[in-house]
Amino acid sequence: MEESIYIHGARQNNLKNIDLRVPRNRFVVITGVSGSGKSSLAFDTLFAEGQRRYLEALSTYARQMAGRLNAPLVDEIEGLSPSIAIEQKGLPHNPRSTVGTLTEIYDYLRLLFARLGTIYCPNCDLPVRSWTVAEIVADLSECLPPKSRILLLAPLGQILENNLPNLVKRLRRDGFGRVRADGAIYELDPLPSFPRRPSHLIEIVVDRLVLDEEKRRRLIDSLELALRAGKGTAGIATPEGWQRFYCESARCALCGYTGPELTPTLFSFQHPFGMCPSCRGLGHAGSDGEGASCDESAGTAADSQEEAPEVPGLISEPSTCPACKGTRLSEAARSVRLGGLSIDRVSALNPAAVAVWIKGLDFDESGRQILERPQKEILSRLDNLVELGLPYLTLDRSSNTLSGGEAQRVRLAHQISSHLSGVLYVLDEPSVGLHPRDHRRLLDILMRLRDAGNSLVVVEHDRETILRSDHVIDMGPGAGTQGGEVVFSGPPDQIANCPGSLTGLYISGKKQIQTPRHRKKSGDFFRLTGASGHNLKSISADFPYGCMTCVTGVSGSGKSTLILDTLYRALARKINNVQTNPAPFSTLENAERLAKVILVDQSPIGRTPRSIPATYTGVFGLIRQLYSQVPEARARGYSPARFSFNAKGGRCENCRGEGLQRIEMYFLPDIYVTCPACQRSRYNRATLDITYRGHSIASALEMTVYEAAVFFSNFRAIRYKLDALIDVGMGYIRLGQPATTLSETSEWDTYGWASRPPLFRGVRPRGSNWRLNLAGVDREGPSISSMSQRPVCTSKISANSCMSCANWLTSRTRLLSLSIIRT
Ligand SMILES: [Zn+2]
Ligand SMILES: [Zn+2]
Ligand SMILES: [Zn+2]
Repeated sequence: MEESIYIHGARQNNLKNIDLRVPRNRFVVITGVSGSGKSSLAFDTLFAEGQRRYLEALSTYARQMAGRLNAPLVDEIEGLSPSIAIEQKGLPHNPRSTVGTLTEIYDYLRLLFARLGTIYCPNCDLPVRSWTVAEIVADLSECLPPKSRILLLAPLGQILENNLPNLVKRLRRDGFGRVRADGAIYELDPLPSFPRRPSHLIEIVVDRLVLDEEKRRRLIDSLELALRAGKGTAGIATPEGWQRFYCESARCALCGYTGPELTPTLFSFQHPFGMCPSCRGLGHAGSDGEGASCDESAGTAADSQEEAPEVPGLISEPSTCPACKGTRLSEAARSVRLGGLSIDRVSALNPAAVAVWIKGLDFDESGRQILERPQKEILSRLDNLVELGLPYLTLDRSSNTLSGGEAQRVRLAHQISSHLSGVLYVLDEPSVGLHPRDHRRLLDILMRLRDAGNSLVVVEHDRETILRSDHVIDMGPGAGTQGGEVVFSGPPDQIANCPGSLTGLYISGKKQIQTPRHRKKSGDFFRLTGASGHNLKSISADFPYGCMTCVTGVSGSGKSTLILDTLYRALARKINNVQTNPAPFSTLENAERLAKVILVDQSPIGRTPRSIPATYTGVFGLIRQLYSQVPEARARGYSPARFSFNAKGGRCENCRGEGLQRIEMYFLPDIYVTCPACQRSRYNRATLDITYRGHSIASALEMTVYEAAVFFSNFRAIRYKLDALIDVGMGYIRLGQPATTLSETSEWDTYGWASRPPLFRGVRPRGSNWRLNLAGVDREGPSISSMSQRPVCTSKISANSCMSCANWLTSRTRLLSLSIIRT
């Protein structure tokens, strides 16, 4: 009989007390409309319980933490393995995490640089290493032809003219016959007359001989003497002008620079040892980007005004740290080279170039032994990055600049190389943002993970993924309270015959996504010419006014460079008067009709527990206003700020308003546990005392948009904003749903979080000018079945607020959409 995981009585979130069998060591897809309970089943039940049990099996410390993790609402789960979630959200908040550290490639590089690297003097650009006499002799016979005439020198450095007579006397007493002063040879007997100069660069000529096997003994004796006289440094020079200095200790033979001790820690920008002291390993100057300070100011600014700033993040470009030039590393770490490159130069390469570099490393037998294992590990991880459609990511790319999909695939690349088996992997929508070609490779990789003896549970709507899976679980039938049931569970070829399954209808082609009957045309364009950032080949492009334009292509083809780095920044600078540097281009023509440009992309929001729908949509400001008007609040003199969890005063200070506490697990991903002081409410006792119609501000944030729309129905301004959220299909989300907790609906987190609220805010009528909405959107987020509902709500928006074009994206490839909205 097939091995399986049995779930009994799952009731987490909207799950309706379901019993379910999930086959083990198989590729299982959970599908269904947005809000149907897919993530509640995959993440909040299966993964949460697997993680909890796994932690319980570990140390006492981990066990304590496990006790504070919320156990999922389920009667029993049998046959569960340790589980690992590879989500698109919740990447480490560590500002020093990069693609290199996430994949562990950087750890192997550090090892290689420590064991095999050569220190180069940062002043003289010469190798710094320690030499034994035998090594010097070997080096000489390698560098010079036999029978070469050589001078053996003992450098004494710069000697002041006044001190010369005494020095010469001493050298004569010690038996030396000649010196080299500023490159010229002088006999010491009789007393030489040096040209008048404040100081001279003096080297003792210890011996003159011909390189010869028979003279080997004499060479060794003279070298030892030179090293002694030169305090650890000896020089060899030929009449032809070749010369080289050798140090016994790791010191620059010319300037005396002492190299660092080579250990893996030296190359870590996460450790005080290796980090650049002026930016502390962050690579940029100014704010240190850590702690809550920046979160706080951003949060308060965003929810203190009714209209939050239109352009979140992105424009802020922290300046590169001048001390390390953005490499995050100390000078000592950067002074070490391997195969001609320092570790920061290697990190700035893409996977293909790193592979060329590491394959080109050449060592003797013992060096090869050191190289072998790390080289193999690095190459396999580089291959994985390429296969996962990330051939353009450099190792030094900061993880907080990755899109959700990219971050997920980087972590996947790491998991594949860690050769685990017997693990339950839970993934959310790995196909998001992938071109069909890259998507096929991704599926191959997932199959490899399964074939290594792991179970995969993937939340996904993509048709191809469903068809290639071993087992499909379709959740539904509707969203929220209308969902939470298993509509279908079985092999994918049978779902088409399941009458109750919307997904089945799409798979079988009985239902199809409608393409618009007529498309909007525009005779007027604005034009970008000569775009040549990154890999763009000086291209020009027209963008029609009043239309939705879709930019597509395989990973790394230049979509983001063209739209985000060039067009958006050029427009933002010209129209919004923002300080920003676009990628190089020649001209931007005919853009005068645009009144404003708004960027809607995945990255800037949703990465902290402080980002909640209420703040981002601006409704929170109104609700706080309302709470400050309650008689009890007025009596106590509470202002709207009192009801912010971003500022001191009303919030719980134990968790500083996050409601959760982050626990570092060191060798495991960080986990979040309920704050013991406020039990997730984010507020202190006094604030919670204030209630409106029986609900505190915390319980208002617990409401779904639907519930809140009813609860606040007397307040037109609040109602207006909530209705708009309902219009775009977001009624089932909770007002205070934090981004970093395990979500009830992965769609909201992966796609909706970042793109829907701003999109919806963009359609509010205001003035009569043209406005450009730029959306960096990874594919259409909602499931196949909810896609057809899309034009309905869109047309409602159009009717309400004059959105001039409602061609919704139905392509399944990665899209960077561009829409112009008439407001
Ligand atoms: Zn030097
Ligand atoms: Zn620095
Ligand atoms: Zn708290």
